[in-house]
Amino acid sequence: MTSMQTVIQVTPTQLKKITDYYANMATGKQPTGAIFVAKKGPTTITAYRSGKVMFQGANYAQEAARWQTPAQQNTTRQATGKQATTPGVNIPQGFANWSVLGSDEVGAGAYFGPLTTAAVYVPKDQLAWVRQLGIADSKTLTDAKMRQIAPEIIANLPHHVVNLMPEKYNQMQPTNNVNQMKAISHNFVLGKVLAKISPTTPDAILIDQFVQASTYFKYLTQAQQSPIIKDNVYFTTKGEQYHLSVAAASILARVVELDSMAKLSDEAGIPLPIGAGHQADEAAAQLLNRGLDLNHFAKVHFANTQKAQKLRR
Ligand code: MN
Repeated sequence: MTSMQTVIQVTPTQLKKITDYYANMATGKQPTGAIFVAKKGPTTITAYRSGKVMFQGANYAQEAARWQTPAQQNTTRQATGKQATTPGVNIPQGFANWSVLGSDEVGAGAYFGPLTTAAVYVPKDQLAWVRQLGIADSKTLTDAKMRQIAPEIIANLPHHVVNLMPEKYNQMQPTNNVNQMKAISHNFVLGKVLAKISPTTPDAILIDQFVQASTYFKYLTQAQQSPIIKDNVYFTTKGEQYHLSVAAASILARVVELDSMAKLSDEAGIPLPIGAGHQADEAAAQLLNRGLDLNHFAKVHFANTQKAQKLRR
């Protein structure tokens, strides 16, 4: 078994920051040479006067990543023998049975329609009920099946959705890359659901991973988001396989995206295709031919815009 710990060496300035950060999680224990021992969720953090900081237990790599440069993170990954992108690398045993707030987004790769992000909280006493909805394999469900399940999620589970329609997306896109918009959206919906379920707190938050954890938090800091949700936050690709809350969020986001596509198709007078292939070019050319503004319907920075301009009459 891989050892569940890592030690990083930090500067005195960083050590001060780390000490402040974990101050309210201190256990009161103080081994020889240590400044503090803190417990954050499943992770134990021990800081030493030498500038060494040890992270132990589940989630250790991700907690350490908070304080490391990207180069140091690579070293940690090499030490664990796994890539950061290996699904489930940071997910503790038994996680599927925890009370988890999960989030996922859809639409980032589609030319027409919104970027839609949802968060859903599934407490452990609801897991059996959610499981019988048959959503574990959310990525393989038909649109019809998802439309049938989404109202059940909405009626029974704390949730929030942010739907960045094209006009808003196009307004943000020049100054925020797509992953930054995703990060802002995830942080926003997570904060909304945390407020809804307060004073209950989930055992963990699981974000379906689209960038490294350190990049995610860097984007939120750069965009001056407040608050930044970071306690007990886990990341993994294929998140829907690690907790039903991510599967539920994925379905909810997808159904809201489909509804938005139906509304935009209605306004356009033609069915707008999902995706960014040649069909999207053709549809966009038709909108241009009728004098419609692509800014209202599509993510205009995609190459489809130029292709449509060449196809138009
Ligand atoms: Mn995803």
